[in-house]
Amino acid sequence: ADQQTDAPEKERERTLVLVKPDGVARGLVGEVLRRVEAKGYRLVALDLRTPDREVLGAHYAEHEGKPFYEPLLEFMSSGPVAAVVVEGERSIEGFRSLAGTTDPTTAAPGTIRGDLGRDWGLKVQQNLVHGSDSPESAAREIGLWFPGL
Ligand code: UDP
Repeated sequence: ADQQTDAPEKERERTLVLVKPDGVARGLVGEVLRRVEAKGYRLVALDLRTPDREVLGAHYAEHEGKPFYEPLLEFMSSGPVAAVVVEGERSIEGFRSLAGTTDPTTAAPGTIRGDLGRDWGLKVQQNLVHGSDSPESAAREIGLWFPGL
């Protein structure tokens, strides 16, 4: 049977995961996806690309005007990003738990940021991954990164 269409509605909750340029440059895409799949989520779309300012401006619209906004856009457009749509019951919360807190220096060991990240000079900018923070953000971000999905 087709897993996708037979899955109950809750199993189809989707979240947008990004492996940021630091994660791609360090060769950690496989490690991040391994953790996502090992947790039991499904990958439903996957793409490697260097995002343009338009996508990034929309993606980080809530942070516009903050001191870290411009440097963040600069960093996020500095190289390829792995964009991934992840699916499964409570995948939004679940991935954020896998990712750990924003500051990789103090993120809990066992998390992606806690195990693999640290401060490289801009405190919390290079923290390896992004995960949508709510169903509304997930829908908006998936539409932005994967129009037509
Ligand atoms: N960020 C930053 N400086 C800050 C706060 C955040 O460079 O002081 C970056 C960091 O890469 C973070 C992203 O902006 O992941 C989005 O911030 P948010 O507070 O939404 O954190 P997240 O949800 O990614 O943990």
